[in-house]
Amino acid sequence: MSLKMQDNDSTHGLALMCNQDGVIISVVHDGLGSVESELLGKPFPLLVTSSSFQKALSFLVELRDKRAVFDWEFDLSIGSELILAHCAGLAIEDNLLILAAQTRTAVDHLFEEMVRINNSQTNHLRTITKEQVEFMRTQPEREIGLYEELSRSNNTLVTLQRELAKKNVELERLNAEVQRLALVDELTHLYNRRGFFEIGHHEVERAKRFEKPLSAIMLDIDNFKQFNDSYGHATGDKVIEGVATCCSRQLRKMDIFGRYGGEEFSVLLPETPLAGARIIAERLRHQTSQESISTKHGLLSVTISLGIAVFEGSTMRLEELLEHADQALYKAKESGRNRVCVDGE
Ligand code: GH3
Ligand code: MG
Ligand code: MG
Repeated sequence: MSLKMQDNDSTHGLALMCNQDGVIISVVHDGLGSVESELLGKPFPLLVTSSSFQKALSFLVELRDKRAVFDWEFDLSIGSELILAHCAGLAIEDNLLILAAQTRTAVDHLFEEMVRINNSQTNHLRTITKEQVEFMRTQPEREIGLYEELSRSNNTLVTLQRELAKKNVELERLNAEVQRLALVDELTHLYNRRGFFEIGHHEVERAKRFEKPLSAIMLDIDNFKQFNDSYGHATGDKVIEGVATCCSRQLRKMDIFGRYGGEEFSVLLPETPLAGARIIAERLRHQTSQESISTKHGLLSVTISLGIAVFEGSTMRLEELLEHADQALYKAKESGRNRVCVDGE
């Protein structure tokens, strides 16, 4: 479309045609004497100072679905000059017509003159009635308010999103902690029975698949009830903790050590045939009998009994392996305690 108007001394202002991105595509009226080539191709928001940039953006956005917005104030930079400009905008087909002048009256004048000139032509300006213009004149204040409210809501949203992200990280950490706690014994920090079986099943599968040796040891503190009876439950706990620590130090990183329940422990020894398991079990027995456990009732000597079973064949399950080790442990208890017995021997 084309808009033509005669220069009028009383109209100190600019009429700029922009595309939907706010880029100036033509200068319709130049009553400020600006250099046209400096305006063309520039986005309108670049002509306004950063303080009013937000307003300009809002202004342009508003124009997309409104016919006109009146009386937006910008610091408009024309060449080297900075002028406080009143602005009005009209959405015309796909373009935006921006009217800017130093006074509101001059904008009104510019607008009316354009309407008058274009009344004889067929274009959108003709359809804007005086009532609509009046109505739109009352909009800007409300729109500034809405824009600011939107900005505030946006900031709140960003803050809330940040907080949510932090809470999610915390939640993930807590979930991981809950999962860990579900598999770990609180007193000894070894696997609890559930944790031991969870990890142990993988180890059994691995031994089956790669046809690797795997041994299990069940061990139990000898006459443990005495400690509870003589010194109380808390000291009993200290003894359980002490045995766990002492045995942990004798095992390899790859070994799986769990508190099976009460004062009974289970060990899985990957890649370990009977001969190796025997050595390790004997070491556990010996070391436990040598290390006294420090309690508030003084140093306490402890012994353990151990039963060994070796994983055999592709059909054996972890539960069966441990049952065999438990039978060997029973034998060790029966034959006098503080000793190692092997299943089937
Ligand atoms: P044995 O040599 O035959 O194994 O005799 P024992 O006294 O060690 O075995 P018994 O099964 O008779 O007693 C084990 C006791 O361990 C009974 C139970 O009250 C106690 N106990 C089980 N869990 C805990 C615990 O977490 N802390 C404490 N302090 N005692 C426990
Ligand atoms: Mg016992
Ligand atoms: Mg027991």
